[in-house]
Amino acid sequence: MSDVTVLGLGTMGQALARAFLKTGYKVTVWNRTVGKDEALISEGAIRATSVYDAVQDSPLTIICLLDYPAVLAVLEPIEHELSQRVIVNMTTGRPDEARSMSAWAVTRNIDYIDGGIMAVPPLIGTEMAIILYSGITENAFEKHRALLKTMGQVRYVGTDPGLASLLDLAMNAAATGMVGGVIHAMTMAATEKTDIVDFSNSLLTPYLNAIAGLIPHFAQQIVSGDYTANVVSQLSQMSIGLANIRRASRDVNVSTELLDPIQALIDRRIAAGFPSDEFSGVCEELKLSKKK
Ligand code: NDP
Repeated sequence: MSDVTVLGLGTMGQALARAFLKTGYKVTVWNRTVGKDEALISEGAIRATSVYDAVQDSPLTIICLLDYPAVLAVLEPIEHELSQRVIVNMTTGRPDEARSMSAWAVTRNIDYIDGGIMAVPPLIGTEMAIILYSGITENAFEKHRALLKTMGQVRYVGTDPGLASLLDLAMNAAATGMVGGVIHAMTMAATEKTDIVDFSNSLLTPYLNAIAGLIPHFAQQIVSGDYTANVVSQLSQMSIGLANIRRASRDVNVSTELLDPIQALIDRRIAAGFPSDEFSGVCEELKLSKKK
């Protein structure tokens, strides 16, 4: 018997399996396409030639595939063998997919935990990897907590199986917006033969780190619903500033398509009567139910 089974040996699945091996756990691995397990086998992993064998080989199965349809395609043919087993699904998906996967598991007497990996493969197995978990089977999760810690920081966020996914996608929404802004900034700076590496290291990164320090302040305002408390930058001022950024971008032939929707949101919030709000006030404009 192994300590853990890993189904799916893509870039991420291999990193997860390797973290267990490095910690000294016995690991059984399986992948749809043969051959992707060779490096892991040479490092001590045990090859399973079928999903059925892989799952039988340990008390805990971790699955990390491309998407949820792939997870179902792999698990459905052996669903009768999964009863009373623990499955941790590390595949990225939507909250609705996680909830229906959990419902599917409940009717088959499977302990299902949904995971959201907030890290890239090289960070797996380090404290810099944060992994979110949620699911109705909190006991099963607690039983395996020590082993799950091998992959990265463990954050159990609640019994709603969709919650890990929701928070995973929300955090990636934030990262997408930030990286989009970074790419815009670099594109602008590069129009003047700026040393982009130096610009990034000595100016942009420290500036963004300082801005990140405002996140708790925004969170406080969003919780209270008072977007005028201790304002750092009013929307009326931000609107002028963003208009200047967009004008200067166009002047150097850089498209403003990443910034235009943000200007529209800010201006809509101002037009709704809230020019003194902090930027966090635009969250009211993002709530679709408000418009119904
Ligand atoms: P890869 O593309 O490297 O690997 C995809 C894996 O899914 C392979 O093992 C592939 O098998 C398997 N697969 C796809 N379709 C099927 C199917 N129908 N049946 C069986 N197996 C299938 O992706 P990653 O490993 O990078 O990502 C895996 C998951 O981890 C994704 O959900 C991703 O969002 C998530 N993740 C990845 C991160 C990253 O930086 N890589 C970061 C955070 C999360 P085969 O080899 O046979 O094609």
